[in-house]
Amino acid sequence: MSKPRLIGAEIFRHSSYGRWHPLRVPRVSTVMDLSRALGWLPPEQFIIAPRAKPKALHVWHTPAYIASLQRVEATQEATAQDRARHDLGSVTNPVYPEIFRRPATAAGGSLLAGELLRDGGIIYNPPGGTHHGMPDRANGFCYLNDPVLAMLSLRRSGVRRIAYVDIDAHHCDGVAEGFHGDPDCLMISVHEEGLWPRTGLLDDDAGGSALNLPVPRGLNDDEMAYIRDALIVPQVETFRPDAVVLLCGADGVEEDPLAHLSLSNNAHWAVTRALMGLARRFLVLGGGGYNPWSVGRLWTGVWATLNGHEIPDRLPPEAEAVLRALRFDGNRRGKNPPEHWFTTLQDAARGGPIRAEITDRVWRLSQRASRKG
Ligand SMILES: [Zn+2]
Repeated sequence: MSKPRLIGAEIFRHSSYGRWHPLRVPRVSTVMDLSRALGWLPPEQFIIAPRAKPKALHVWHTPAYIASLQRVEATQEATAQDRARHDLGSVTNPVYPEIFRRPATAAGGSLLAGELLRDGGIIYNPPGGTHHGMPDRANGFCYLNDPVLAMLSLRRSGVRRIAYVDIDAHHCDGVAEGFHGDPDCLMISVHEEGLWPRTGLLDDDAGGSALNLPVPRGLNDDEMAYIRDALIVPQVETFRPDAVVLLCGADGVEEDPLAHLSLSNNAHWAVTRALMGLARRFLVLGGGGYNPWSVGRLWTGVWATLNGHEIPDRLPPEAEAVLRALRFDGNRRGKNPPEHWFTTLQDAARGGPIRAEITDRVWRLSQRASRKG
């Protein structure tokens, strides 16, 4: 099998949702820069994301919405109709200079990934992971839904059974809408309970296609390892997928400003490693993650995991310089960043007791899945 490939683009380097928005921080460019500094991104493993054409987006999004996004990018103004119908120009989904081009580039990468995986392989598209986007409107910082587009692209490549695993701190409401009731899709989402959008309750099975596991605040590495070994891996194995899609949002780590989980980046890497080899095709997407150091270190470690690279205890000077150049203005975490955010990729493990509400919920989901199977 050929080597894993990473999809990226320069548009993500300077594009920002605005000074006060959580997505003001660079993320994808940090992964590209760190990976290059570590010698992990030779040209033959790198693909520049193509910008998706409007027509390619119509497979899931409405033509009216795509036209609206393009017009808002051109005029830099959302009309009353854009606001009311498409939720453009709101606090969460603001108008910004690349409001169409940026999400269309993330989507272009995901659509391309579905084609490249036709015969198997591993693709990593860290710009992707916009799992809240809806067919006719923006939702939760997501203007398009590239995970849905990636899965539809896989289907066009002849891939039938898709296991979609989502460990972002937020529930994947847009993907659940896209694949509701699809018998050839298994969606497993692990997300913080009570957090926006407050969907994905334990009893919500999305028409039979989803296992939703809301988890309490403070989720630790040992709890995530339990969820991985008792729920995620056995359910994906039983499903026998033709492709696995992992949405590896980085907002479940302790230092993330938007969620309240307490994972270290080891948890995300271990889930990534556990899913490798469970299907001939493996697509890994980004997602949330709003602390620029956490997200850059975590997602670079995902790339190392996919390639089997050993992560050095201390980063070489060129990689350290990438992390030292990051800024996190307007957040207390940016004032005195701890030294290990500059000098390491790997966090110290954050273990702890495995709480009964987690084992109980995993048991209930497993029971429901076995009744169905
Ligand atoms: Zn999230």
